Amino acid sequence: MPEDHANSWEARAAAHSFYGFTDLPSVRERGTVVVTHGEGAYVVDTHGRRYLDANSGLWNMVAGFDHPGLAAAAKAQYDRFPGYHAFFGRMSDQTVMLSERLAALAPFNDAKVFYTNSGSEANDTLVKMLWFLARAEGQPARRKILTRKNAYHGVTAVSASMTGKPYNEVFGLPLDGFIHLTCPHYWREGRPGESEAQFTRRLAEELDEVITREGPETIAAFVAEPVMGAGGVIPPSEGYFQAIQPILKRHGIPLVSDEVICGFGRTGEVWGADALGFTPDAIIASKALTAGYFPMGAVILGPELADRLQVAVDAIEEFPHGFTASGHPVGCAVALKAIEVILDGADGAAPLIDNVRRMTPVFEAGMARLAQHPHIGEWRGRGLMGALEAVADKDSGTPFAGHLSVSERIANTCTDLGLICRPLGQAVVLCPPFILDDGQMDEMFGKLETALERVFAEVAG
Ligand SMILES: *Cc1c(COP(=O)(O)O)cnc(C)c1O
Repeated sequence: MPEDHANSWEARAAAHSFYGFTDLPSVRERGTVVVTHGEGAYVVDTHGRRYLDANSGLWNMVAGFDHPGLAAAAKAQYDRFPGYHAFFGRMSDQTVMLSERLAALAPFNDAKVFYTNSGSEANDTLVKMLWFLARAEGQPARRKILTRKNAYHGVTAVSASMTGKPYNEVFGLPLDGFIHLTCPHYWREGRPGESEAQFTRRLAEELDEVITREGPETIAAFVAEPVMGAGGVIPPSEGYFQAIQPILKRHGIPLVSDEVICGFGRTGEVWGADALGFTPDAIIASKALTAGYFPMGAVILGPELADRLQVAVDAIEEFPHGFTASGHPVGCAVALKAIEVILDGADGAAPLIDNVRRMTPVFEAGMARLAQHPHIGEWRGRGLMGALEAVADKDSGTPFAGHLSVSERIANTCTDLGLICRPLGQAVVLCPPFILDDGQMDEMFGKLETALERVFAEVAG
């Protein structure tokens, strides 16, 4: 509960900080949780209360909040060389090494990497690269970007246009030429009597029809998250990428995998594309790239796009794009360490991805158990991310009335119990850090179950 005096952290936060992506009535009623530090998978607020953060911060703090190796890598690089750019033919040694590592990890040969400060900027950068390429290749009309409804690709003007969420209407977005196809969520979008295989086929036909209607020569790319994250953790219907990839190939349209959440182990594989069984033409990375210890994003171009872009750039001798902090040496040093921690194991510890694989069946069993509740319509997920969908009626899948704010109430009740999870639509999302152990898994599901029982008793009588 917020304290009254104007000096409280809650009052100070509200006085001079402008909130984004925050339910303001909840904050006015409950006050801001002002966090001072973290311990493993937990964060601690100014009152000393501890919360198990079942969202890894914002999907990114996969190694927890006090990883000694990551902090040491940042400190060592700050001591050695605290900042530099990647313009004018200069770049840090750390940048060179990170690009080598990412190229080796990428699911294609001979990748090329371009750095940004965020996932949004990486998507913007990709689109600018494709627009540049199209003009240079004498196809200036090739500008449209295909994504899906419910997709999340960021908040800058271009990446918000790629994002398939109605809340961007308040900005007059999307921009022209950003087209949102049907979300591949069978449980919600499937028609009565339609099998999952028929649903997948319908979405593939829709893609083909949209490409034909718009003209394939006007489409620059199809961009997709392997598993949609901020849309509510939505794995695609069975066979989805296998059905759409040949259509894109036939029309000569690149498939870009937005791996900002899936990349670096969240699904139990290095890339979500590996887990979903497809090979993209380029990858967008951020979030777990630095385990959240430094803001950084990357565009990883596969060989065909990289080569064509290189030819186009050579013709004008420069790619006129880049951020002051692109390829920041501290960010690159932290990313190199994060990749080591997640995939190789560092300083005597096992690779965190091993723990993702070990804990995934435990996570799935916990989700499946909660999904038996009469007010849970489905659970879905992949690896260590999942969502539970609250419903008023389980058989018909009818949602609760919006004014009941069921998922916000569940998340707020969890916060009171010392568990951070996230409401998304009528779903509750979990994506714990890769370090989660069995006891913390029990704590997470135990607290969530208590919260579900309390809230459903209130709203369903
Ligand atoms: C978070 C996210 C982004 C945007 O990243 P920011 O760093 O917040 O700009 C883009 N794509 C996906 C899939 C994301 O989850």
